[in-house]
Amino acid sequence: MSDYVVAPPPVIAVPVAGGGVFPVRRVFCVGRNYAAHAREMGGDPNREPPFFFTKPADALVTGGADAPYPSATALLHHEMELVVAIGTGGADLPAAGALVHVFGYAAGLDLTRRDLQDEAKAARRPWDMSKGFDASAPIGTIAPAFRIGHPATGRIALKVNGELRQAGDLADQIWPVPDIIAALSKLVRLAPGDLIFTGTPEGVGKLERGDVAEGEIEGVGTVTAKIS
Ligand code: MN
Repeated sequence: MSDYVVAPPPVIAVPVAGGGVFPVRRVFCVGRNYAAHAREMGGDPNREPPFFFTKPADALVTGGADAPYPSATALLHHEMELVVAIGTGGADLPAAGALVHVFGYAAGLDLTRRDLQDEAKAARRPWDMSKGFDASAPIGTIAPAFRIGHPATGRIALKVNGELRQAGDLADQIWPVPDIIAALSKLVRLAPGDLIFTGTPEGVGKLERGDVAEGEIEGVGTVTAKIS
């Protein structure tokens, strides 16, 4: 029936709280968006505008499925993040009014091969293989903004095997969601289905095989990943 010469890839979709699924187009991520984490990574939180990297849509892990320990690393790190799901797009969106483009929010993990990222930074090479590997983006259900509003404050925390590893507050974001949408939409035309991982608070650290990571964002939801 079609002219596809290999099987077309499936649509990647994230379940929505209350019903339905959100079809994913692209996955953008913000680097260093909480002051204490910027400092722990050697940056200056007062001087850096937001910067972005990407993961492929099929790096997402949904439904609490296991995330296999990735190849080629000895230092897998967790980064607990608020994820923004874009419902309507556009380019050059002003920060004022940007939230009308948000369909909803989720809790997500930006899993990172920290050793490869450190090597890439030192060699001024791209981050793709340290950030965009298979199963590098576990994500919980998306809570629609029409149910939960637009959370600008609230606790964001991650436990590993029941032990608290990361804790912060959305209020401590250097660039709040409207500013992130404004900045990113100057670089690419945002479209329905885009996700934005908005950066992690302090306390990033190592994950081992068998670890269970459980994240929660107050008023948004949870994400769970077992590293298998
Ligand atoms: Mn991150």
